[in-house]
Order: sequence, then structure tokens, then C-alpha cells
Amino acid sequence: MMYFDYLIVGCGITGASIARNLADAGYKVEIIDRRDHIGGNMYDYVDEHGILVHKYGPHCFHTNNERLIDYIRRYADWDDFRITCGAVINGKCTPSPFNYQTIDDFYQKAEAEDLKRRIERTFSGKKTVPVLEALSCDDEVIQKYARFLFDNDYSLYTAKQWGISANEIDPSVIGRVPLRFDYNNEYFDDEFQVIPSDSYAAFFNSLLDHPNIFLRLKTEAVRHIAFEDGRIIYDGMRDASVIYTGALDELFDLKYGELPYRSLEFQWKYENTESKQDMTLVAYPQEPGYTRIVEYKKMFPKRSYKGTSYGIEYPKPYKKEAKNEPYYPVLTEDSKKKYDKYRKLANSIENLICCGRLADFKYYNMDQALERALCVSDAILKKEGK
Ligand SMILES: Cc1cc2nc3c(=O)[nH]c(=O)nc-3n(C[C@H](O)[C@H](O)[C@H](O)COP(=O)(O)OP(=O)(O)OC[C@H]3O[C@@H](n4cnc5c(N)ncnc54)[C@H](O)[C@@H]3O)c2cc1C
Repeated sequence: MMYFDYLIVGCGITGASIARNLADAGYKVEIIDRRDHIGGNMYDYVDEHGILVHKYGPHCFHTNNERLIDYIRRYADWDDFRITCGAVINGKCTPSPFNYQTIDDFYQKAEAEDLKRRIERTFSGKKTVPVLEALSCDDEVIQKYARFLFDNDYSLYTAKQWGISANEIDPSVIGRVPLRFDYNNEYFDDEFQVIPSDSYAAFFNSLLDHPNIFLRLKTEAVRHIAFEDGRIIYDGMRDASVIYTGALDELFDLKYGELPYRSLEFQWKYENTESKQDMTLVAYPQEPGYTRIVEYKKMFPKRSYKGTSYGIEYPKPYKKEAKNEPYYPVLTEDSKKKYDKYRKLANSIENLICCGRLADFKYYNMDQALERALCVSDAILKKEGK
């Protein structure tokens, strides 16, 4: 049996980048994942029609943090890519985030100009605001516009996506897609917006390509874990430290009950046509069942593909018995309290570090997950005197 300095559960960006940093510092690391592939939710593959698709939904890396961009560029080449998205409301496809084009799409010219003037007066100097702020502003015409979008998009989308009504959900989640006060039709505002020139799978292969890293796939970690005398023990290795990036309720055998997550079911389709929709990602808030359709070839304009593959996303409750995947933590007052109990328990275990989108129970983007992972590895190396 081999002995390791660190056992890392989860081969997404969090686990894989920590594994690499510790391996570079001379530690022997085993990284384990229950899936049959590396990359966590960023995994991509070429489908049976020869088109590169993202298995768990479209992933664009976006950040303002240069350290993160430098880090990912060490392991792969990346192309600039600025994703554009739309939403279909009353049969009309309008940009998402909603912008001044949306006002032009749904208002007569004179009314549209009046609304834009009011927005510029009320939110002078602001390029975006969360829809909830527009809903509660003093100007009735702006309020009406925000109400139209809230009723026909935000609340319907939220109800489908989260399985609960919009007023039960944490405002930070609804605020993720703001209202824009210009004609900018890019989805993200960050300075750096990139996707791998080759693939996420190739990026992860390069990140994990180190003689000190040992990879074990198709392995459910919790089955190998025991707790004794305030320590976590993986496969009998008492001295190793464990870095765990999975869900905390699973790690502690649901001691305080289940943490709620939302899942997604992806329906994959192919059509022998040049283009399925105008934009890479289009949301359909008013359609029953699914939230959005992602047409992957539009993410790779340099590649030429015959036909088009697209994924239709159906939000589902996450159920352990159904063996679906926990994608989004459902952040409510109750779930945050329950999570805090698990976090306290995790913190009491001397040789355990929990981080990542699942273990931190946070709606991290890739850059936030990577930033957290780099902080964790910096702290470990500092503690070890490296
Ligand atoms: C549909 C969708 C679209 C997204 N789009 C974007 C985007 O465009 N831009 C962006 O920045 N972010 C996006 N994200 C977020 C992004 O996926 C995450 O920020 C990132 O993948 C988090 O990485 P992670 O390593 O923390 O977690 P994950 O990628 O979830 O990796 C965790 C890994 O741990 C494994 N694991 C868990 N428990 C166990 C266990 N007990 N035993 C063994 N293995 C275990 C899992 O199998 C998984 O592979 C998107 C997410 C989703 C769901």
C-alpha cells in the first residue's frame, strides 16, 4: 500500500489545483473522484457527432484577477471568448442580462426613450442594478418595467431553477443577473473571459501531470473514511491530511440532516442545420420544464462543424437515491444554519480541510473556486514552512 501526505477528495478545479500546488512543493498526493473522469463540472468531451460539448453545462472562465489567469495559462492555452445570451419572452428573443435593447424590444419608441431618460436620472452613473433595486425605486415607470421582467422572467426562471418561489430565495442569487443600462450585450463584465483553446479535459490533464500526483477515479471517498480521536483517517492512513471538496452532509453521514441542492438533467440533441438559435445560450422562462438551451458550436467559432449539438437543461431536485448530481446549493436561512453546524464540526477535525463549491456550500464560479483553492494551498504551504 502507498502512503500519501495529502488525500484530496474531488478532481474539480478546487481539488486539482491544490493537488498540483502541493505536488510542486514535494508532497505526495492522491486525488480521488467518484466520477469516471477528471475536471469535475468543467469536464468536456467530443460527442458522437464530432462536436465538443460541456457535459455539465456551458463553462466560460471569467475573472478580473490576473493571478488566476496567469495560473490557468501555465497549464493550457486559452482563447478570448465573450459569451452572449438571450431570453425568450412572449416569443421575442431579447439580450440577457436585459439591456436597452430589451426596452426597445418591448416598448414603442417614445415610451422607450422616456424610460431610458428616467433610468439615467434615477440611477445616474450606474451601469447595472439588481432587478430588486429597480422594483423598489420611486419612479413608477421604471418599477413597471422591472415588474414586467420580474413576472415574465426572474420569478418564472427562479421557480423552475430552484423549485421555490422568488421571495424565498437569497437575494444574492436573484441579483446574479442584473439589469443593464446601456446596449452592452455581453453576459459577463470581467476583464478576462476565456475558454481553453483545446479543451477543459486537456487543461486538467496538464494540471495533474506530475510524478507526485496519483489519480484514482470511480472511487467513492466516504466509504474509505473513518473518524477517530478528532482526526479523519483515509484508508488507515493516520498521518495524512484530507482535503475534501464534496458535500459536508455526505461526509458526516447526514448527522444534521440533508443540505439542499438543486440538480439538472441534460437532454442532448443534434440537428443537421447550421444554427439552432442566435446566441450560445438562450433562456426560456415561460416554457414549462426546461430553463435554457445551449448551442455548443457557438462557443468555438474557430472550429468548423457539420450540424449542431445542443443541450436542453431541466432543473430537478437533488436526490441522493436518484443518483443525480448536486450542482447548486439552495441558500435559504434554514439551509445556511444547517450548513454552519456541519462547518463547525468539520473545523473541529484537526487534519481536515474542506473547500470548493460543494464543501463551502457557496455558488462559486470557477474563478472564485480557484481563488479559494490557491488561498488554501498557500496557507498549507505557509504552515508547513514552505
Ligand atoms: C450548469 C453549470 C454551469 C456553470 N457555468 C459556469 C461558467 O460559465 N463560469 C464559471 O466560472 N463557473 C460556472 N459554473 C460553476 C463551476 O462549475 C464551479 O465553480 C466549479 O466547477 C467548482 O469546482 P469545484 O472543484 O469546487 O467543484 P466540482 O467541479 O463540483 O468538483 C467536485 C468533485 O468532487 C467529486 N466528489 C464529491 N464528493 C465526492 C466523494 N464523496 N467521493 C469522491 N468524489 C467526490 C465530484 O464527483 C466532483 O467531480 C457552472 C456550474 C454549473 C452547474
